[in-house]
Amino acid sequence: ARPVVAIVGRPNVGKSTIFNRIIGDRLAIVEDKPGITRDRLYGVAEWNGKPFSIIDTGGIEIDGEDIILRSIRMQAELAIEEADVIVFMCDAMTGVTQADEEVAQILYRSGKPIIVAVNKVDNMGRSDLIYEFYSFGFGDPIGISGSHGTGIGDLLDAIVTNL
Ligand code: GDP
Ligand code: MG
Repeated sequence: ARPVVAIVGRPNVGKSTIFNRIIGDRLAIVEDKPGITRDRLYGVAEWNGKPFSIIDTGGIEIDGEDIILRSIRMQAELAIEEADVIVFMCDAMTGVTQADEEVAQILYRSGKPIIVAVNKVDNMGRSDLIYEFYSFGFGDPIGISGSHGTGIGDLLDAIVTNL
């Protein structure tokens, strides 16, 4: 079976934007299982000749802070079970938030390779914003921009290196 990459993170960091950039024209299929997994999007991608499946875990986003946090936790836990590599996506413009810390706590226990992708690094002036994301201890954060498509090659390099 193809290795599985999951994109995890709180709402609004740009997970779906990056997911769509990575799968490109390839059709994303909505997994039709009953229950909590059904909102997740699965796609197929390939980089440097290495094929992989990729999951956009952001399907469940409900208003109300407690529910959002619970849903983020649930999505992260599901992704950990299924994934071979996890992309932990954050937002350069907000910096590290409490919800990011919540996700990080779950990811620490996973034992899976974690790649920190810091999205919304839309211009050179924002490149220094990635440094505070070293504080998670998951290694070198990768600055990306879903709006401009920059840094995605570096992210894909990091993903396939860990497959
Ligand atoms: P998700 O909730 O994590 O799936 O995030 P989305 O992909 O839905 O994006 C949330 C918002 O951030 C949308 O308004 C996007 O247009 C915006 N966004 C996504 N990527 C970028 C980026 O690289 N730069 C900027 N400035 N905005 C972005
Ligand atoms: Mg989304």
